Amino acid sequence: MIKLMAANWKMYKTRPEASDTARDLVKSLEAMLPDDREVLVFPPFTALYAVGEAFKGRKNFSWGAQNFYPKEEGAYTGEISPRMLAELGCTYLLTGHSERRHVFGEGDGLVADKTTLGLAQGFRVVMCIGETIEERRGGKVEEILKNQLDKGLSGVDKSLSPERLSIAYEPVWAIGTGEVASLDDIVQAHSFIRQQLGKAFGERGQEMRILYGGSVKPDNASEILGLDNVDGVLVGGASLKADSFSRIVLA
Ligand code: PEP
Repeated sequence: MIKLMAANWKMYKTRPEASDTARDLVKSLEAMLPDDREVLVFPPFTALYAVGEAFKGRKNFSWGAQNFYPKEEGAYTGEISPRMLAELGCTYLLTGHSERRHVFGEGDGLVADKTTLGLAQGFRVVMCIGETIEERRGGKVEEILKNQLDKGLSGVDKSLSPERLSIAYEPVWAIGTGEVASLDDIVQAHSFIRQQLGKAFGERGQEMRILYGGSVKPDNASEILGLDNVDGVLVGGASLKADSFSRIVLA
C-alpha cells in the first residue's frame, strides 16, 4: 500500500509562500521519494494553483482542497464547488476535519454530503474522524468513531475502489496541541477503524488507507508509521516548513 503523507496548511501561507514551500518540497523529495510514499498538500484555496504548478507532472505529488460545498453550482455565496477545484488540478478533498466540525459547526450530515459528492465527482477523499478529550475520558472512543464513520460514509458507493477513500484518525485533543496519542491508543483506534471499514466495504475496506493525525513531528513520525494499520499521516503544524515535512515524508 502506498503510504499517504498529507500536509494540511490550514489558513497559513500567501501564494508566494506556498509556491516556495511546494518547490522546496519537490527539491528535497523528488529524487529520493520511495515508490511507496505519496506526498499530498492541502494549501489554502488561494494557493492551490501555485502548488499545482510546482507539483504537476511529478510522480506521487498531489494537491487537494481543505474545504468545498457539496453542490455542483448555485446561489451559495462564498462557497467553492468540487467542479471548480477540479479545474485547478486538485485530485483530493478533505472532509470532517475537527476544525470544520468544531469551529464552523459542520455536523455529520454535512460531512456525509461532502464525502458522498466529492467521491461521486471522481475525487479522492480523506475523511477525518476523532474523539474529544471528554469523549475519551468517558470511554466513548469506539462509539464516537463508529458513529462518525457510519454517518459520514452512509451515502458512499460501497463498490468504490479502495485508493479513493482514506480515513484520518485525528483525536481532537491531539491536534495542534503537541500532545500525541500513545502508540497503544493509535493501534487500538486504527484497528477498530479497519474493522468498521471491513464491515462497510468488505475486502476493499482492507485496502483503504487509514492515516493518523495529531502533533506528528519529524521525531515521532517513524514510530507512528511503523504501527499496524497506519497507512500514512495528516500533518498540520510540522508540515508548514519544507524541511520538517520532508523529514516526516521520508521517516
Ligand atoms: C491537522 O491539522 O490535521 C493536524 C493534525 O494538526 P497538527 O499536526 O498541528 O496537530
